[in-house]
Amino acid sequence: MSEKACTACHTIATSNVCPKCKTPTLSDDFSGLVIIFDPEGSAIAKAMNIKEKGRYALKVR
Ligand SMILES: [Zn+2]
Repeated sequence: MSEKACTACHTIATSNVCPKCKTPTLSDDFSGLVIIFDPEGSAIAKAMNIKEKGRYALKVR
């Protein structure tokens, strides 16, 4: 199953609904992959407004 990225929160998911924010719009047209281990201490997580650890796409179209 191919991975998709949530258009709202950028979470990478293989389901049709985002497991984090329940948004049903996921796009397979995304680029960049960031893995956040420490949302509190990560500048990327802050910039992307990420509060939970996980895998995220940098850009989602
Ligand atoms: Zn989401």
